[in-house]
Amino acid sequence: MNDCVFCRIVAGTAPATKVYEDDAVCAFLDIRPITRGHTLIVPKRHATELDDLDPDTGADLFRTGHRLARALRRGGLASDGANLVLNDGTAAFQTVGHVHLHVVPRRHGDKLRFAKGFLLRRPHEPQSTAAAIRAGLTALDSANPPARDVEGVQE
Ligand code: 5GP
Ligand code: ZN
Repeated sequence: MNDCVFCRIVAGTAPATKVYEDDAVCAFLDIRPITRGHTLIVPKRHATELDDLDPDTGADLFRTGHRLARALRRGGLASDGANLVLNDGTAAFQTVGHVHLHVVPRRHGDKLRFAKGFLLRRPHEPQSTAAAIRAGLTALDSANPPARDVEGVQE
């Protein structure tokens, strides 16, 4: 597991710009983004492929992808949509052997910019990008507070 770069990012022993984490998953900026804000969500416990991932963690992964896709529409990146992609296995062009869900922000009419980004994979300014995503998460949470906050009931 120690030679897994995403495990090292989760553990904080390899650098990454994290935008979100909880007990099950960690989300950080892709080092070679296709578009600004391209984020990867990984399970904290190592799983190489979907075959190794327990279904509840798979659900946690998608729940976070769903949340991030919604947050990207609200933060400074003001996306119009997102591609959520998971390459499962080397046959599907998975290049890092730790399950990860890509969330790639999209804008209307960005076809050329997307194609260029796909070829060049140049990093954008990570700190301001991460701040824009975190602002989107905050905006999402204030618009949709968890039910227990509304009701004042603890889980
Ligand atoms: P895959 O093709 O396996 O679905 O995508 C792997 C992704 O991980 C690529 O988009 C690549 O840019 C990203 N990646 C590879 N190594 C690192 C790393 O050390 N740090 C970060 N943040 N992203 C990485
Ligand atoms: Zn790992």
